[in-house]
Amino acid sequence: MALRKIHKQGEPVLTKKARPVTKFDNRLAQLIGDMKETIKDANGVGLAAPQVGILKRVVLIDGGADAGVIVLINPEIVRREGVQKYYEGCLSYPGYYGDVGRPESVTIRAQNAKGGAVEYQATRLYAVACCHELDHLEGEMFMRKVKGPLYTLEEVKAMREKDKAERDAAGGMDAAGGMDAAGGMDAAGVDSGEDSPDTAAPAEGYIRPSHATPGPIGPPPSQEGGLPPNL
Ligand code: ZN
Repeated sequence: MALRKIHKQGEPVLTKKARPVTKFDNRLAQLIGDMKETIKDANGVGLAAPQVGILKRVVLIDGGADAGVIVLINPEIVRREGVQKYYEGCLSYPGYYGDVGRPESVTIRAQNAKGGAVEYQATRLYAVACCHELDHLEGEMFMRKVKGPLYTLEEVKAMREKDKAERDAAGGMDAAGGMDAAGGMDAAGVDSGEDSPDTAAPAEGYIRPSHATPGPIGPPPSQEGGLPPNL
């Protein structure tokens, strides 16, 4: 395995549409292995193949200590629920963060590294990460979708503290869920379904197979210390 160069804003490969993967061969395995090394080295939560200069529909999401790095080949979002405010950054546009207004939760259908069908549920941070990486496959960069200004890391840290204080002040109601009817329905439908109360709605969400038994949620990468994710 080897580290791959992460391409930055302005390089043409980032604005082109990626092609579906049709061969699950050694070359794909090599790409996935290299991307795993690269996402860890860059302390990223998500990485799409176009970011390393390869126009294939390959996405990695680092689901944290419990979930590990999840490989999504030819991924599609088949369900979106709710809307959330979440500051995200991009490994291809370092240093700036913004809120796109992503879904609160998504269901992703994809293939794994060997071509088998998989389905994942992703919430909060991981819903943001999945949407961000799938945008990369379409040649779309997040800063063109950001609502309002882009912020520096220090500015985002300050706003996250403020948002947290406001959520706490609202009596434990999730801020995004409370914003509109769709968000409210989502919070009820997704988080209080089969989950037991002590595993429901972890602060940074989760990514896990659709029919998995809910388990303890470990801290996701890049989040300790209130840092926004690089995707
Ligand atoms: Zn990105």
